[in-house]
Amino acid sequence: MTEEKRNVYLDYSATTPVKEAVLNEMIPYFTEKFGNPSSLYTSGQESKNAITVARERLAALIGADPKEIFFTSSGTEADNWAVIETAFSKRAKGNHIITTKIEHHALLHSAEYLEKEGFEVTYLDVDSDGFVSLDELKDAITDKTVLISIMFANNEIGTIQPIADIAAIAKERGVIFHTDAVQALGNVPIDVKELGVDMLSISAHKIYGPKGVGALYVRRSVKLPEFMHGGGQETGKRPGTENLAGIVGFGKAAELAQANLPVHAKQLAELRDYFIGRVKNEIPNIRINGSLEKRLPGNANITFKFIEGEAILLLLDMEGISVSTGSACSSASLTPSHVLEAIGVPMEEIHGSIRFTVGDFTTKDDIDYTVETLKKVVEKLRNISSLS
Ligand SMILES: *Cc1c(COP(=O)(O)O)cnc(C)c1O
Repeated sequence: MTEEKRNVYLDYSATTPVKEAVLNEMIPYFTEKFGNPSSLYTSGQESKNAITVARERLAALIGADPKEIFFTSSGTEADNWAVIETAFSKRAKGNHIITTKIEHHALLHSAEYLEKEGFEVTYLDVDSDGFVSLDELKDAITDKTVLISIMFANNEIGTIQPIADIAAIAKERGVIFHTDAVQALGNVPIDVKELGVDMLSISAHKIYGPKGVGALYVRRSVKLPEFMHGGGQETGKRPGTENLAGIVGFGKAAELAQANLPVHAKQLAELRDYFIGRVKNEIPNIRINGSLEKRLPGNANITFKFIEGEAILLLLDMEGISVSTGSACSSASLTPSHVLEAIGVPMEEIHGSIRFTVGDFTTKDDIDYTVETLKKVVEKLRNISSLS
């Protein structure tokens, strides 16, 4: 052990480090620029202006009007707000909502909550690549359907849904369409007007911004009641003294994401494809999960047959490599990934699946080190495995 221990982070879909330029913009808002944005004196107004700039940057990144952006505490809050308040406010019209089997838990558990409150929820199936069927969606819509919520890009397998087509169907049937775009933001061009979505959830910490700040885009024509009750912040729609530094950081991260998007996406896809290519050639009995075409640029979800993903994860961690099994949210339990189950991965193979996600700080060297380590780890585990 002469070599210094490496540190290779391959879990950018779980969270990302805050970029230095983002942090630098945030820091003054913890100390000298601390005025309450609701205060009328100068320092308060300066804080308010900083939030305005952040809102404009977010709006520019997704093609929205700044008035249509509402800051929240997280992507989770944005999902809960959009789905729960839309459902309750439309209850007189109908009690049916449509979503998919592969949503993030922020969405799935909101839908399950609504079921307990008497709503009916259709969870659409997906095909083996993770795509919803537009025909099944059309067939699922009834007179009682008040909301369709389908994620933009999946956090486990990276599949990107045909969002514009889904939005067109929703519009034709007069149903509100919400999409969880937390994973898509910064990785896929998003223009809410062109796509025709009514509501869209995003989060700062997935795009090199700070944790604990998200936003919900709400099209001006959509009347979404407030989820929390309090003061007049966010035009009264989302009260609570603003997470000033966090919002400033989100704005800066959005500005960087917009400037970098084409280069960022190309760089990530190249690294990811190089990784997948090497794994395919050098490790037997593996399978790549999810669509290889319409997929997030940084995502590789791979099944290593005959072994346990948790064992791979722990041995990689001992070598300084961070990855996840299925999704970070289920890592505390051994519940099989609902996403891999939905695309038809056999149960024993779900347990052998690992998500690798590359990001802006990943190098080719990191990938080479990971492949070499993975080869040893997989061979070792297969030698002691009773499954092989
Ligand atoms: C991370 C994530 C969320 C939750 O966002 P938070 O800001 O961490 O609450 C929601 N949806 C998807 C698809 C995500 O990847």
